[in-house]
Amino acid sequence: MTVSQVTVLGATGSIGVNTLDVIARHPNEYRVYALSGYSRMDVLAEQCARHRPAYAVVADDVQAAALQQVLHAQDVATEVVYGEQALSDVAAATEVDVVMAAIVGAAGLRPTLAAVQAGKRVLLANKEALVMSGALFMQAVRDSGAQLLPIDSEHNAIFQCMPTNYAEGLAPVGVRRILLTASGGPFREFNIDQLAGVTPAQACAHPNWSMGQKISVDSASMMNKGLELIEACWLFDARPDQVEVVVHPQSVVHSLVDYVDGSVLAQLGNPDMRTPIAHALAWPRRIDSGVSALDLLTIARLDFQAPDDRRFPCLRLARQAAASGGTACAILNAANEVAVAAFLSGRMGFTDIPVMIEYALNAMPSETVQDLDHILLADRMARECAERWLAARG
Ligand code: NAD
Ligand code: MG
Repeated sequence: MTVSQVTVLGATGSIGVNTLDVIARHPNEYRVYALSGYSRMDVLAEQCARHRPAYAVVADDVQAAALQQVLHAQDVATEVVYGEQALSDVAAATEVDVVMAAIVGAAGLRPTLAAVQAGKRVLLANKEALVMSGALFMQAVRDSGAQLLPIDSEHNAIFQCMPTNYAEGLAPVGVRRILLTASGGPFREFNIDQLAGVTPAQACAHPNWSMGQKISVDSASMMNKGLELIEACWLFDARPDQVEVVVHPQSVVHSLVDYVDGSVLAQLGNPDMRTPIAHALAWPRRIDSGVSALDLLTIARLDFQAPDDRRFPCLRLARQAAASGGTACAILNAANEVAVAAFLSGRMGFTDIPVMIEYALNAMPSETVQDLDHILLADRMARECAERWLAARG
């Protein structure tokens, strides 16, 4: 059996830690080539000591010098490098077979694209990268022959339920629509008054999944499902109206594919990200992920509801951006990142999130995307626009 060399971008985060957990179960099949982290240097140091990567990538020279010293004292030979270019370098290095793209937000776009352009097997958790740059990203996948495998549990489920030739388009392979499931988040039952008063701690306490702060807030606002709708359109060449969102509070059915003959295929499992990670690492083989077997008798029932656009307007905003195309999804994503950060730091309330995003979408007309710089410019301008809205509100 050949050994795959893996780079984990965002190793210190929730997806990164789960990825290393799966890799550690298969030491004869996977070796870690590089790990990256932006904070939690103690975690990164432990990961380096355990997995002995050739490189660790951190944010800046100060962090790099400190981590290098810690590793040196433990006789760990990992070389510590820093900065954006270093992230792209360890993603595209010739030694690397697989790249886990698990940096959160727009910061992951360049290194994820670098992995795609280098033709790697790319395990995509960083949905924001695809949302921002969809057409360009998918063109890069086609040009380089990279294998793009979705880590988002819903998209991984859809991938598993699609026929192998799905790249031909949905209609030719007999798919009528995609059913994207959503847990509904911690505030599924809250009314608008209650939503206005929720705290960051409440928003980050997801009922089914333990995740990073940003995606936890996105799940609570339903923007996560909005980003995932856009993600599904790019991954599976679907129109927004071919993707239906279904609220499913138990998070056991991870998504479904509806065929023209009336068959509906679903992928089920315990809500544990190690399942899609192991699936994408080993595809088309199957390997142990450490996830326990699904006990349907304990779960006993599966519920499904329609999403409520009135209480959770983010989903509607994402549909609107998906329909506009061009730079609209980059604007949506950037304004959302500013909104989530402002909510988490107590500068605005939870129900201000969709208001800020809608302001940015209305203030900045969508433009036809020219290139990566154009997307990054739209990202920067949308952030400034969202910040202006916040400042003007006082
Ligand atoms: P997290 O916040 O736990 O981890 C983020 C990682 O990115 C960390 O390693 C952090 O150090 C790094 N990072 C943060 N800012 C950075 C920057 N500016 N430059 C370089 N690195 C930076 O997040 P997470 O929950 O692991 O999510 C990671 C990605 O996976 C997100 O895009 C998220 O939407 C997606 N995702 C996560 C889950 C989940 O269960 N956690 C599920 C589906 C998709
Ligand atoms: Mg998801």
